[in-house]
Amino acid sequence: MREAQKAPPDPASEQRKADATQHRRNVADALIKIVGSNLMEIPNGPDVKASDRERVTLAAMQMGVPYIWGAVLPRDLTGGRRGGIDLLVKDTTGYVPVLVVRHKITDPGQGAKTSPLTIPLPHSSRVDPLRKVRPQPRDQLRLAHAQRQLQAAGYAVNGRATGGVIGMDADVVVWHDLEAPTWPGGRTALAEYDARFSDRLTVAITAATGREAIAHASRIVDCKTCPWWPTCEQDLKERRDVSLVVRGEDAVMLRKAGLSTVDDLAALDPSSDHVPLVGMPIGDAVTLAKAWLRDLTLVRRHETMSIPRADVEVDVDMESFADLGAYMWGCLLSGKDIDEPQGYQAFVTWDPLPCQDEARSFAEFWTWLTGIRLRAKARGYSFKAYCYNELAENRWLIASAERFAGMPGIPTKAQVKEFIESDSWVDLFGIVREQFLCAHGKGLKTIAPVAGFSWRDPEAGGENSMRWYRDAVGLDGSEPLPEQGERLLVYNEDDVRATHRLREWMSSDAMQSLPFAGDL
Ligand code: SF4
Repeated sequence: MREAQKAPPDPASEQRKADATQHRRNVADALIKIVGSNLMEIPNGPDVKASDRERVTLAAMQMGVPYIWGAVLPRDLTGGRRGGIDLLVKDTTGYVPVLVVRHKITDPGQGAKTSPLTIPLPHSSRVDPLRKVRPQPRDQLRLAHAQRQLQAAGYAVNGRATGGVIGMDADVVVWHDLEAPTWPGGRTALAEYDARFSDRLTVAITAATGREAIAHASRIVDCKTCPWWPTCEQDLKERRDVSLVVRGEDAVMLRKAGLSTVDDLAALDPSSDHVPLVGMPIGDAVTLAKAWLRDLTLVRRHETMSIPRADVEVDVDMESFADLGAYMWGCLLSGKDIDEPQGYQAFVTWDPLPCQDEARSFAEFWTWLTGIRLRAKARGYSFKAYCYNELAENRWLIASAERFAGMPGIPTKAQVKEFIESDSWVDLFGIVREQFLCAHGKGLKTIAPVAGFSWRDPEAGGENSMRWYRDAVGLDGSEPLPEQGERLLVYNEDDVRATHRLREWMSSDAMQSLPFAGDL
């Protein structure tokens, strides 16, 4: 497959990788300040060979260096393993692997085994009174891989296998017992890893020796950003694989039931109940399969459409950046005249998040929206505001009221909740989900084009907007690029115009010509 065409790197994934690299660097620097010359960093870079890094790591373990950063463990030729780990810490009888990740590894609660970053060793751990573990299976499997390599090299600790994780907050090390029966079926992380690794090794050896493939692609969430998608998509289409319609575990269930192709699924009696799916009712899956065979993006579930409309309408779209804040609230006012300029406007802060100026922009947005509601009411007009997938908007409406409580123009949490729970706040995504079956997904970028809408920016997308935002405000310490801010405004305006267009389309006669599930 070396010559196979690959999808271009996903910019959002690349950004996440760059962020993770920076996070690991920050943790390394913090540790160096704490443990000083007890930490040895294994040389890395484009000119350093992996084999040299293996040799230096082995030498460091032989010398008993207390902390080894950026370790590349000796190849386990018998087990067929290679790989590295961010940090090795020396405990009484050997080394323990520690992973550094840029996601949350605990939740509020109690019971996690943690050590402070100042003493990142298993024997310094205690039962944390403020944190409970987020299991993060992928982290545990990575630790199990390193543990097996350490065992093969003869440098693992005696006794129970343990691995540590330093997470997003980088304030503690969370320790996982890799031999505790915490996995489904009472399995341990090591047992789960062993089973999965041996399975994959068999697949790889079969492929490497040119025998008939024993594994096939099956569409999962990760396919969206996977470089191998062009190859897998072609393979799936040639096989008319059922995962093209129903991805993940549901596809596995359907294959087990003998329904391997979209055609098999389309031919199933929709009232059949012998294949319980987790993602959707089997009847919907059958209709989606029929829609896929006819190359239809959208199918109506019901004969008649019901879209809540009002005299005065506002489409809203918020832009946020990670957990740092919501920097833009874009609004499109339409409907009956209330002596307010109609059209698009954005309430925005270009101070890098997190910042106090976000309170000013949120207060202006809320004041404007409240004013529109009151003016409509004063004229006896009905009012509704629309968004596409309220989860994000609601999260930042509430969080902004909480974070900026008491500041000028900021509503109370109760006022925000009253609005969110009222009939005036409409989630168009919920209506799309209820009214349509969507063969290619329910995202606004998929659905609005069916209604004839297109984005001016060919690269418009939530993930790309993160990159534009970084550049617009100079988040990485670089010079801010105002043109990227303009790009974000165009993107946000198109998003609100897309929801507006979608509503108009769903309320129009065009619905009559859209295929109806019952007719397929
Ligand atoms: S099935 Fe999906 S995730 Fe797996 S290799 Fe293919 S495209 Fe990538």
